[in-house]
Amino acid sequence: MNADAIIIGAGACGLMCAVQAGYLGKKVIVLEKNEKPGAKILISGGGRCNYTNQFASDEQFISANPHFIKSAFSQWTVDDTVSFFETYGIHGKEKTLGQLFPDDKNAKDVVQVFTSICEDFGQEIRCDADVKDIEILSDGFQVTYEKKGKKITITSGKLVIATGGLPIPKMGSTDFALRFARKHSLKIVETAPALVPLTITGKDEEWFAQLSGNSVLCEVSNDTISFEENILFTHWGLSGPAILQISSFWRRGELVNINLLPHHNIISLLNEERMLNGKTLLSTLLNRFYTKKFTDALGKFLPLTKPVAALTNSEIQLIEQTIHEFKVKPAGDKGYDKAEVMRGGIDTNEISSKTLECKKIPGLFFGGECLDVTGWLGGYNFQWAWASGFVIAQNM
Ligand SMILES: Cc1cc2nc3c(=O)[nH]c(=O)nc-3n(C[C@H](O)[C@H](O)[C@H](O)COP(=O)(O)OP(=O)(O)OC[C@H]3O[C@@H](n4cnc5c(N)ncnc54)[C@H](O)[C@@H]3O)c2cc1C
Repeated sequence: MNADAIIIGAGACGLMCAVQAGYLGKKVIVLEKNEKPGAKILISGGGRCNYTNQFASDEQFISANPHFIKSAFSQWTVDDTVSFFETYGIHGKEKTLGQLFPDDKNAKDVVQVFTSICEDFGQEIRCDADVKDIEILSDGFQVTYEKKGKKITITSGKLVIATGGLPIPKMGSTDFALRFARKHSLKIVETAPALVPLTITGKDEEWFAQLSGNSVLCEVSNDTISFEENILFTHWGLSGPAILQISSFWRRGELVNINLLPHHNIISLLNEERMLNGKTLLSTLLNRFYTKKFTDALGKFLPLTKPVAALTNSEIQLIEQTIHEFKVKPAGDKGYDKAEVMRGGIDTNEISSKTLECKKIPGLFFGGECLDVTGWLGGYNFQWAWASGFVIAQNM
């Protein structure tokens, strides 16, 4: 045997797993398809890496089994993440909504933490190693990978598949875990891009396109959930944190409801203005909350040039509906090229929630994004990747 365990994927989960195994004196070999480890960590949070969220709990995750992550999150908490990074000089600074970023460092430093601990423990990270095949032996696993056109085979008693999800294929993402699962009859929860911008086509396209670059604080909701954050108009549709959040809950054909003024009651505002200065134009009132460009665009739906005192009841109703219940029917999403995560994945019923070992294949562990565990935007996905890496290291 070449090592106690082979870890496939030097992403967030695989790297944490290698480090934690090092603390326990377990020798691992990490195989990574890319030239360097931690590709997605490096681009995360715009290169700053939103590495956890102070408020992370099982409630900010989507999974067919919402209880699955509870055990891992009790074994590795947000405090564990925070103190792990603090030990290595990365101190968290909250940007917004509990999202922690390295204070005076960046994503490169986060990856560096893992690579230098691996070096200290003699954990080998073999890059340019594209895993092609896994054979299940009576006492472990035989893994074959390709490096510079050469096939290399290694063996170990335990195997970890931490090959991530499908987003951003050009960064090395593969369907390796899903293919392996299918081959061994492990169930898969249907996958789809999540935390992904939504597209608008047809007659509304032009209206959205004219607002490209405008960002507005909104409450975006559907029948199940709502998020209050900014939306960003683009020439092909909608992006920004509120849209990415709702995209994980959106299904093709559904409407998205946008409250364009979540902290104000527009009818009260109109009534107050009618009492104070009825000559105020509707556009003047709306310009107090929006850019001129955005107000002007609302002119497609609203009588902007009318003084507020002259508005009829049905016009007031229209204003209320437009501002507080702006309905959008996205045509689709921008797909895996632009998604931050994958929804769905290997069915968690196939995996022990306590150890993350595959129930049908003893000695094999799955962690991170390849499982049916999808976090909201805001550092939750890394918290899951760290936690699952930690749990696997304890049990392999
Ligand atoms: C643009 C972007 C920004 C993001 N920002 C954040 C953020 O700020 N905060 C947050 O919490 N989450 C963020 N995420 C999500 C986060 O990056 C992922 O959820 C997380 O990286 C998943 O960790 P993982 O270890 O499961 O997979 P990954 O980090 O994707 O690692 C999997 C690794 O496996 C390798 N691999 C795949 N197949 C093979 C194979 N056959 N052989 C060898 N190696 C293989 C891949 O090359 C990859 O390096 C972001 C995602 C994207 C795309």
